[in-house]
Amino acid sequence: MTEARITVYGAYWCPDCRRSKKFLGEQFIPFNWVDIEQDKEAESLVLKKNNGKRIIPTIVFEDGSFLVEPSNAELAKKLGLKTEAKKTYYDLIIIGGGPAGLTSAIYAAREGAEVLLIERSGLGGQAAITVGLDNFPGFPEGISGQEFSERVTQQARRFGVEILQAVDVERLQSEDGYHEVYTSDGKHYHSRAVLIATGASYRRLDVPGEEDYIGAGIHFCATCDGPFYKGAKEIVVIGGGNSAVEEGLHLTNFAEKVTLLVRGDKLTASQIAVEKVNQSSKVEVRYNTMVDGFDGVDSKLKSIKTRNPVTGESGEVHPAAAFVFIGQSPNTAFANGYIEMDPYGFILTGHDLTHSDNRRTQALPFETNIPGIFAAGDVRHDSVKQVASAVGEGAAASISIREFLRNH
Ligand SMILES: Cc1cc2nc3c(=O)[nH]c(=O)nc-3n(C[C@H](O)[C@H](O)[C@H](O)COP(=O)(O)OP(=O)(O)OC[C@H]3O[C@@H](n4cnc5c(N)ncnc54)[C@H](O)[C@@H]3O)c2cc1C
Repeated sequence: MTEARITVYGAYWCPDCRRSKKFLGEQFIPFNWVDIEQDKEAESLVLKKNNGKRIIPTIVFEDGSFLVEPSNAELAKKLGLKTEAKKTYYDLIIIGGGPAGLTSAIYAAREGAEVLLIERSGLGGQAAITVGLDNFPGFPEGISGQEFSERVTQQARRFGVEILQAVDVERLQSEDGYHEVYTSDGKHYHSRAVLIATGASYRRLDVPGEEDYIGAGIHFCATCDGPFYKGAKEIVVIGGGNSAVEEGLHLTNFAEKVTLLVRGDKLTASQIAVEKVNQSSKVEVRYNTMVDGFDGVDSKLKSIKTRNPVTGESGEVHPAAAFVFIGQSPNTAFANGYIEMDPYGFILTGHDLTHSDNRRTQALPFETNIPGIFAAGDVRHDSVKQVASAVGEGAAASISIREFLRNH
């Protein structure tokens, strides 16, 4: 493992510390984390660097330089990431550098299109934070999410895709037949076609310790990570809706027992799913159980702090792993009111849509309601939410984009 050359001084309760840690983690940059509430010497160092003020995070670099409460853009600049494009006009702009976006970029650039890919955080998307991809074809021994992402990124760069990082797309607009993509750094870029591949984020609990043990005992995908716990005594599932129940039942294939921690006093899953739980001897449901935090040893989850919201009574559980299923939110806020979405914010594409384009009444596969704007991967309504399917959609969308570019 690479030795960390950056130290982040902060505290558990500090949201900006979590954001900075997340940002460094997503860029695969090793760092030391020091909680100044547990370390008096570290607290003195922070006070000294900030003229007696206790400002966190204070991030100290190898050469002794430091940043105080930096934004992601400031951190990106310090780390030498590319945040500005060479040109203002491209054939195709891809928003999101996960498996779908990167694959589409490879296909389009390989055929000679000028492609700009804009990623707000780490390349590889959700796949990059996966400990191991066991179900992606072609890797019989599995592959780490990080290595997979690095390989796909390398391939995209090989074909000349221009990639921006730590740049958030905030708004889309059309002007004079071109698409305008507005970014968080106040810039905007034009293109003939746009692919939205911004994925979805698993909703998190936002409790202390959660960020620290993601991938090391805390997971968000049972299909993906359940098999790592084959033979485990107990797995905990947090949530009481359909996905928590279905995924919990799936996890009984691996663990001797699955305990569902449900905040309310009933399951909100479908009747059929609830009946399956009632019939399973391997599932226990604990109602009125909220999660207050996670603790671990040697960077691995060891315990979950719980609380009964009715009685106030607190408790602790010690499972092999915790799977959080409290819903998924698509990353589509930037396209609200412009691109047609389902009631949950996932983007509608293809045959469900009728076009305003004079030349066509039917949208191309993966095309949205706006001619020339496409969507692929987890962000798309009815997508399968797996790496292999995101890669497939990215490739297929690029074929539709090619057709669009030929005809417009
Ligand atoms: C912990 C975990 C484990 C998983 N394990 C597996 C597994 O083992 N096997 C499997 O097949 N699947 C697994 N999955 C699911 C899989 O990772 C996803 O289905 C896949 O990554 C979806 O790819 P995508 O490109 O559509 O979206 P994402 O991977 O979500 O990528 C979207 C990208 O868009 C970026 N973005 C979002 N909004 C903006 C914006 N406004 N501006 C710029 N960029 C933006 C995001 O930062 C992100 O990098 C796992 C998911 C998680 C969370």
